[in-house]
Amino acid sequence: QLADPNVTEADLLADPAAKIARVKGTPHPSIPAPRDIFPGRVNSGGLDLQDAAVLHPLAKTLAATPLPAAAKVPDVAAAITAAHAAAETWDRVPVKARAACLDRLADLMEMHRTELMAICVKEAKKTIPDALAEVREAVDFCRYYAINARAQFAPLPLPGPTGERNELRLGGRGVFAAVAPWNFPLAIFIGQVAAALVAGNSVLAKPAPQTPLIAKRAVELAYEAGIPKDVLHYLPGGPEVGRAIVADARVTGVAFTGSTATAKAIARSLLDDDNRPIVPLIAETGGINAMIVDSTALSEQVVADVVTSAFRSAGQRCSALRLLLLQDEIAERTLHMLIGAMETLVIGDPADVRTDVGPVIDEAAYQRLEDYRQSAKSRWLHALDAPAGGGLFIPPTVIGLDSIEELTQEWFGPVLHVATWKAGELEDTVRRVNAKGYGLTMGLHSRIASAADRVIAEAKVGNLYVNRSMIGAVVGSQPFGGEGLSGTGPKAGGPHYLLRFASERTVSIDT
Ligand code: GLU
Repeated sequence: QLADPNVTEADLLADPAAKIARVKGTPHPSIPAPRDIFPGRVNSGGLDLQDAAVLHPLAKTLAATPLPAAAKVPDVAAAITAAHAAAETWDRVPVKARAACLDRLADLMEMHRTELMAICVKEAKKTIPDALAEVREAVDFCRYYAINARAQFAPLPLPGPTGERNELRLGGRGVFAAVAPWNFPLAIFIGQVAAALVAGNSVLAKPAPQTPLIAKRAVELAYEAGIPKDVLHYLPGGPEVGRAIVADARVTGVAFTGSTATAKAIARSLLDDDNRPIVPLIAETGGINAMIVDSTALSEQVVADVVTSAFRSAGQRCSALRLLLLQDEIAERTLHMLIGAMETLVIGDPADVRTDVGPVIDEAAYQRLEDYRQSAKSRWLHALDAPAGGGLFIPPTVIGLDSIEELTQEWFGPVLHVATWKAGELEDTVRRVNAKGYGLTMGLHSRIASAADRVIAEAKVGNLYVNRSMIGAVVGSQPFGGEGLSGTGPKAGGPHYLLRFASERTVSIDT
């Protein structure tokens, strides 16, 4: 018996081919078939921005989408009570049925992509290409975790030299909290929620206070996809809501993306009460991400990848490039080319498809970044101008440093720092970046294979990118997440992620 009387187990197990009949509305006729990357259907690359069918409805939807209402602080305790009561029933739903809900949610998000993109543009100030990538990634997370759950959550027979029948079983842990960031308000939000649900947990889903609306819409689609209402609870609000959720001893796991300081506060809260069970925290936090460029690198490629890594999404990705480390003999030439490339960037309204760099998320972020930028003015190597007419625009800026050590914190915006290193210092340069204690992304540009090997051996980061940009990890192909001050793992979009949401039980039967 499922808690939602409208959804029976038979419904959930229904033939996937029949699922569209359960979904309100009809699919958009122009949705191209997604590429088959994984054994199941995964969406990366499937939605095409060049497709006029995306842009025309998007413009209309944008015009019609109201600005989000302020989120209300709901009754957290009541939601936890309901989630706690529903967890066991949901865990008993066959994994195939839970996975089918994720597949249906993926289908629904594709059908509603225009609306979802419009909310991302309006609420999170995403550019149109970023909004499209956001929907793609959310769809990918659902399909990928559905595939993994079906493969990983079947009982696993184990060798029997003990003379017994041994078996490993995975199940839900109970009530999982999903605490999401504003910079991927659909993809990371739904990724955390989908993983927790498919593993058999009920979920308390808290979006960032800046982006409640896109999360609300995603939760509505999850209900439409067959997730029972008392299994998934939408809890918008600020830090006070997060604190109330995490402090409740009935919460048996937390998936969090946000700042290192908040991750540590959550970890402390989970350990506060001596009687509370020991529960997992999956944390994805920030980084002081460096790209190392040696004198053999292809300059044109370096510059294109630096611009993408540092300035796309207005630098508001935890994967973004913060510290460019140029071998000294190519520094001047590379900077010259970089400045030329920056001059072509269009800063402006994110709803305009020509825009490369939109505004930052809110007034507080703007003030923090602008104060820092102004304080570093004497060290600017280049800065663009903000567009006339005001707005929360931080113009892409390059700041020169005397040493790697000078940069001591993450600046979450389109502000790039540059320092140089000398031939023979490659490993030492990596070690000095490692010494900052963060470990999220690192880039290398070099045409010497052994240089790549040495950096790969030395770098203490979760995602290392060689001769390409440092952002845009693809679900299932480039599992994402860091180490050290950058988080705990397991990596989102990777084969081990779901396992952290699960309880493992070994059953040994003397036959
Ligand atoms: N997964 C994203 C990327 O590879 C970054 C996620 C984040 O900013 O939290 O660009």
